[in-house]
Amino acid sequence: MKQRLLFLGPPGAGKGTQAQRLAESQGLLHLSTGDLLRAEVAAGSALGKEAEAVMARGELVSDALVLAIVRSRLDAHSGGWLLDGFPRNVTQADALAQLLEQLSQQIELVVLMELDDAVLVQRLLSRGRADDNEEVISHRLEVYRQQTEPLIAYYRERNLLAPVEAAGTVEQIGARIAALLA
Ligand code: ADP
Repeated sequence: MKQRLLFLGPPGAGKGTQAQRLAESQGLLHLSTGDLLRAEVAAGSALGKEAEAVMARGELVSDALVLAIVRSRLDAHSGGWLLDGFPRNVTQADALAQLLEQLSQQIELVVLMELDDAVLVQRLLSRGRADDNEEVISHRLEVYRQQTEPLIAYYRERNLLAPVEAAGTVEQIGARIAALLA
């Protein structure tokens, strides 16, 4: 069973839902950079203050800040993990590779959740988070296309990419993902 995983895909594809489900059933550490950043914002920390406006615009928070968050969690953890929302650009992917080399760990699979834009936007609008209004959503999709989508080729070249159809029920998609990890 593979237990060092990345979840990749556009906003609204359901990464968080599936990542949380899988992490619970397999006892993996679930690291969502989005959740961790939102917790910092809610706590009113210096880090949260720095991230808040950037997130509200749908832009990416600085690589250094996000990397520091991920590094501190992985450093302190020896078992399996699942990263959700990170890396989000090639700089972060390179930094992650370097961090994992220092930890003598390797990514075992990159799960790519694929879904049509129209469905993504519908899902995000019905979720109603602070950064889920129409204008910010379309900007987040644009940021995804420009900055995150290059990671598909990046991980395909490294023979790590596993695409999953992200339409259907939570259980159906969960079963597709589980089948890839065996
Ligand atoms: P979604 O997958 O719906 O876009 P996330 O919860 O993953 O939502 O992220 C929400 C916001 O948090 C992003 O739009 C971005 O501003 C910030 N963020 C999350 N992860 C990263 C990251 N790895 N690098 C930079 N910014 C990030």
